[in-house]
Amino acid sequence: MALSLSPTAGIDMPAPHGGQAQVHGRNDAFSFWKLSEDWRPALAPTIGPSAAAAERFLLEQYLPDVERRPPSALRAYYCVKRLIPRALRHRLNSAAVHARRRLEFPRWPCESALVEFWRDWLRRGLELLGAKDGWHIGFWPDHTKCCIVLTHDVESPRGFERMEQVAELEEQYGFRSAWNLPLAQYPIDWGQVARLRARGFEFGAHGLSHDGRLFRSPRDFAELAPVLEQLAAEHGLRGFRSPSTLRDPRAIATLAFDFDSSFADTDPYEPQPGGTCSLFPFHLSRLIELPYTLPQDHTLIHLLHRSPLPVWMMKAKWIASLGGMILTLTHPDYCGDGVYLAAYEELLKRLGEMEGAWRALPSEAAGWWWQRARLRLQIDNGQPHITGLGAARAIALRLSEQPLAS
Ligand SMILES: [Zn+2]
Repeated sequence: MALSLSPTAGIDMPAPHGGQAQVHGRNDAFSFWKLSEDWRPALAPTIGPSAAAAERFLLEQYLPDVERRPPSALRAYYCVKRLIPRALRHRLNSAAVHARRRLEFPRWPCESALVEFWRDWLRRGLELLGAKDGWHIGFWPDHTKCCIVLTHDVESPRGFERMEQVAELEEQYGFRSAWNLPLAQYPIDWGQVARLRARGFEFGAHGLSHDGRLFRSPRDFAELAPVLEQLAAEHGLRGFRSPSTLRDPRAIATLAFDFDSSFADTDPYEPQPGGTCSLFPFHLSRLIELPYTLPQDHTLIHLLHRSPLPVWMMKAKWIASLGGMILTLTHPDYCGDGVYLAAYEELLKRLGEMEGAWRALPSEAAGWWWQRARLRLQIDNGQPHITGLGAARAIALRLSEQPLAS
């Protein structure tokens, strides 16, 4: 089907792997809401500027340029990291986080700036149209109201061994999750990967290794990206999360993956602090970005010394109330045993009780977001009509019934 979308306003990416120029999704407010095409001409003057305004958040452009890539001070740390025992490393990281200047923006654990921007644009749009209400294509398929995606990064052989136990718990509560593996950090038992895949779990690439090299310089990226892509292709890994969530959106957007999850909505505690403020997927050139939206177990346990469950549930309920995407990032290395595994089990139990939530694998959430981007909504005789591939799964909702709109 023909796609009337053009490349994103804020990022000018090189052609992705495979050579051919591809059509990219857009992050403007009209495309986010997926309003009726009948409204497009009247709203056209506001659509282009809305993409630039949204991408100020989504691509962390509110940060100075130097803070939108891995900090140079990390180089020294990665040189000695191997030599520091793990427990001491957590203590040093915790001290560093507490000593660091707290970002005033984005707030943590909840930042609503982008939600307010989407709402505000819609309110002004309705005013411009002289409309009190209207229709849009719901954010999630099959009449669901919000989305839950469970992901893990597996940092060590110990974490790898614990996958089975965590997977069993997830199955017990009716979930499947995704596991991201660093592909050159420790030996991977691909037989175990195949067994979990056969049960419906998904695997992604967590870079090659936690050595801080991938985005350190264009030279490092040029050397390592092809190795990473080759290994990922050999093992059928379509999703990426950068080690330590170090990130450079321009570089990530050129990687031969279908989706990425290296960004948070807000995470001031990572080595590269920041956040997209987004509780929904968005377009990162030809990739779909799936920001993690619940605080990491590692952050809460080792850096902040807080009990994870209350923070997780407070945030999860807030996201669900807005119809957004609850995307967890836990590590079986830290959360796959004892009291923390019990906390994770309780999280699964409570997420499992959320009504109308779509339980999706990252590949499903990303695939849906692409599909939704291609759908078209039109009003015929006052009734909404959605066309395009996947239209049967989509639902037209009145804006007045959409919690994010009010
Ligand atoms: Zn990691």
